[in-house]
Amino acid sequence: MTTTPTAPDGGASSQLIDRYQHAVMGVFGTPQLVLERGEGPYVWDVDGTRYLDLLAGIAVNSLGHGHPALVAAIQQQAATLIHISNLYTTPAQIELAERLLQLSGAPEGSAVFLCNSGSEANETAIKLARRTGRHGIVAAVGAFHGRTTGAVSLTAKEAYRAPFAPLLPGVEHVPYGDIDALRAAVDETTSAVFLEPIQGEAGVIEGSREYLIAAREITRAKGALLILDEVQTGIGRTGDWFAFQRAGVVPDAITVAKGLGGGVPIGGLIAFGAELSGSLTAGQHGTTFGGNPLACAAANAVLTTIETDGLLAQVTQTGQWFADALTGLGHPAISHVRGRGLLLGLVLTVPVAPALAGLARSAGFIVNAPGPDVIRLAPPLIITTDHLQEFVDALPALLDAATQETT
Ligand SMILES: *Cc1c(COP(=O)(O)O)cnc(C)c1O
Repeated sequence: MTTTPTAPDGGASSQLIDRYQHAVMGVFGTPQLVLERGEGPYVWDVDGTRYLDLLAGIAVNSLGHGHPALVAAIQQQAATLIHISNLYTTPAQIELAERLLQLSGAPEGSAVFLCNSGSEANETAIKLARRTGRHGIVAAVGAFHGRTTGAVSLTAKEAYRAPFAPLLPGVEHVPYGDIDALRAAVDETTSAVFLEPIQGEAGVIEGSREYLIAAREITRAKGALLILDEVQTGIGRTGDWFAFQRAGVVPDAITVAKGLGGGVPIGGLIAFGAELSGSLTAGQHGTTFGGNPLACAAANAVLTTIETDGLLAQVTQTGQWFADALTGLGHPAISHVRGRGLLLGLVLTVPVAPALAGLARSAGFIVNAPGPDVIRLAPPLIITTDHLQEFVDALPALLDAATQETT
């Protein structure tokens, strides 16, 4: 049943948002919706309005909302054992680590560190890089690696960095995709190059195959690590388990988080090879919650469902269909669609993306505008072309309204 979205004022939403503003720190601005429940690719707000979720909690709800396999795994594990500390381990944790090694194709001797978020996974990667004895780090313009002080040092956006200066020393940002700039920046003081295979927060900008291959060759020649941030691109989002696999490169480490737990907080670092995996030794790093059985059971259920439901192939097909359908609209405000699988950037010819995202929300679609001229589409991996057709059908009128509103 579709209900017609209404104006937020007056309903339960506006009262709750008022309470939010008096109780929750304002770092996220004013929340756009107060959501209550979800099912499949849909969520409902407290006023009963339904939305098609084309953002999936920013590439997190890989199985959509309320997926029976995920719910059952969480319920069962919650009733069995939720947390034990890292003085002990559990079958769920060991199983998850083994599966991540296997799915990433990590060589013999590789090892996983489990934590609770993408930022923490990247913090772990920074500490791994420090263990090389060098401390230079090269990252990319447009990069997003998280908000903790280490991770934000690698994040490029000035507004995220400037209020917290001085950040980690020795970090340099080079234009993303520019092989010569990368070659010029990496030297014998470089501990690691951090790259996203696709820059999500920057507006879904994909690094070419050649770029990732060159990054591997450049880092290897200078003895620096190549660390790929797959926090947004990993766990099937692009139609491969990990986006780096399409380029055929073997990184030194990858970080994962967002989609892994299907909504339960979890992050991880996979260090490739015995030497690097062994460079963080007992006592040098840790976490209280990381790798707890509840999060690991959720992640195992996500991985199993992606496998048994053939979601990698489905993501590739659905993503291609969606990109073609959007381009095929031939609307003058659409420039092109970029990205891969179900991580797509709808690039506009006019800078109306924030207005479009607002209009889409009022029409019952959750999308996000990471930049003035790009809409990010990262729906649950379980979404079908029937669901996506709803948005394709609505988009021309939304684009017309957005371009009129802002001219
Ligand atoms: C979201 C994101 C992070 C940060 O993850 P958090 O869980 O928010 O700490 C890091 N890197 C990339 C590429 C991301 O998309």
